[in-house]
Amino acid sequence: MSRRKQVYEGKAKVLYEGPEPGTLVQYFKDDATAFNNQKKGTITGKGVINNRISEHIMTLLGDIGVPTHFVRRLNMREQLVKEVEIIPVEVVVRNIAAGSLSTRLGIAEGTILPRSLVEFFYKADELGDPMVTEEHITCFGWATPPEMDDIIAMSLRVNDFLSGLFLGVGIRLVDFKLEFGRLYQNEDMRIILADEISPDNCRLWDIRTNDKLDKDRFRRDLGGVADAYREVARRLGILPEGGPRDMKGPEVMQ
Ligand code: UDP
Repeated sequence: MSRRKQVYEGKAKVLYEGPEPGTLVQYFKDDATAFNNQKKGTITGKGVINNRISEHIMTLLGDIGVPTHFVRRLNMREQLVKEVEIIPVEVVVRNIAAGSLSTRLGIAEGTILPRSLVEFFYKADELGDPMVTEEHITCFGWATPPEMDDIIAMSLRVNDFLSGLFLGVGIRLVDFKLEFGRLYQNEDMRIILADEISPDNCRLWDIRTNDKLDKDRFRRDLGGVADAYREVARRLGILPEGGPRDMKGPEVMQ
């Protein structure tokens, strides 16, 4: 099979040209980075698990009417997605104080927020993804005011749905990051959810023990990163077909 043309390589994923125009293949790597690329590592099997978790969540979101880029999973590490024009803004929704919110404002990690908080970060590695307001986003034309209304409404809807989904399997959804894109179809353009939703971009705490089941295990050298991701997949009822020993993806046999 001829190798597809790579259109983009990010920290945790690669995008290839898809089989039809307007589609892309999203490949999930085992690579992990944190602290704006200063910490790098590999979490064996992460790509396989995130592919499955993101498929599961995007499918459920589609079922409740949230438009997403997900089309279908192709294999252990790849999924077919709709090609969108990515809006260069990371949307973070928070329910409990943690991470940069705690360090920035001195709010103790674990403090339950009186209401969900939506924050925006400008996607620019060279600037360290600075926090911005809606004013910056519309001023510099990264998104229009009506697009921001859509983005905020969808983000809060995703938060409500995912909070309930995770609560049902004994996990607290502390915070998460979303990315959106513009989908052009004929004369129409609409905003849809893109990227991935996985323990790489959510904070997930076990409801009883407060154990971290997310990328903070990697960020803070807590160990057991892949096991934690696997535990999330297991609770959601979606462990990979091959089981834990089949996490590396297809390999050529000699
Ligand atoms: N997040 C992400 N990508 C980023 C920055 C943050 O997926 O580039 C996620 C992160 O996993 C967490 C949430 O967004 O679930 C909030 O992250 P925070 O602002 O606390 O930043 P951090 O301290 O994790 O870098």
